[in-house]
Amino acid sequence: MDLSVIVPLYNEEESITELTKWIADVMKKNNFSYEIIMVDDGSKDNSWNVIQKLADDNNNIHGIKLKRNYGKSAALHCGFQSAEGDVVITMDADLQDSPDEIPELYRMIKDEHYDLVSGWKQKRYDPISKTMPTKLFNAAARVASGIKLHDFNCGLKAYRKNVIKDIEVYGEMHRYIPVLAKQAGYTTIGEKVVIHRARKFGVSKFGINRFINGFLDLLSISFISRFSKKPMHFFGSLGTLLFLISLMAIVGIGVTKYFYLKSGHPAPLITSTPYFYIALTGMILGTQLFLAGFLAELISRSASNRNDYVIDKKI
Ligand code: UDP
Ligand code: MG
Repeated sequence: MDLSVIVPLYNEEESITELTKWIADVMKKNNFSYEIIMVDDGSKDNSWNVIQKLADDNNNIHGIKLKRNYGKSAALHCGFQSAEGDVVITMDADLQDSPDEIPELYRMIKDEHYDLVSGWKQKRYDPISKTMPTKLFNAAARVASGIKLHDFNCGLKAYRKNVIKDIEVYGEMHRYIPVLAKQAGYTTIGEKVVIHRARKFGVSKFGINRFINGFLDLLSISFISRFSKKPMHFFGSLGTLLFLISLMAIVGIGVTKYFYLKSGHPAPLITSTPYFYIALTGMILGTQLFLAGFLAELISRSASNRNDYVIDKKI
């Protein structure tokens, strides 16, 4: 099969008939063999009934209904697991992404040998309250990941099949699939300017907290990729450094006191200087950091995926 199109959706009953019809038209025109996987992420409206009807009329259309609303990442993960096409396309259900982009995305994966091609909504039809923070967010993601993409969170993306089988999208990590792909060793990541349109029906499913959560996720993803297999390198070095500096300060304070006493001067109490307390706190924090690293090391040592490397080729 040439293509799998995965559409995660939550309360999109008005859009999906038009969307699937449009996708099917594009597929037919280009002679692609395909499947459309509609993942209903616990919709409360009529979406599932619409999907059932669509699947009856066109046997390239499949539906998966999740028990409740788990979020876009879970919906994508679920779709990825059952995808069978050589090239896998993800697309939002709200008609903001255009199915007309599919043939070119397919060609870039097949002929230009990209592992992943991400859409870039160069001209966006979204409110400014969303486009401004998005720019910041993308800049941060570029710096943290080293991947030169303009639009990490674009819903329209194309993947070589292996990529989606080798990564696990969880939580709200759908914003960082290119980063997950890079960490899994798929580094040929491309970008294509895509047409974006205003939402035709319904409302956006992500509120303002997308930005806070987005930044937190970026922190965890870059931390995890760097240190999750060796947490002691982070906590241990920080802890040891802090402990040693504080220890030296304490020794310094002690030695000063000793010389005061020896020379017969009236020595101030050690506890009368603020440096004593700063150094004391430093030693305690240093020990705690070291311990945190040690515990994290024990946990990662016994994790079932401590050796999750993937063999690329063998002869
Ligand atoms: N979506 C989903 N589960 C959710 C939230 C959203 O499957 O919990 C789907 C939604 O139906 C749409 C896509 O994810 O197909 C993108 O959502 P939306 O258009 O609301 O995001 P925006 O375009 O505002 O970033
Ligand atoms: Mg949208």
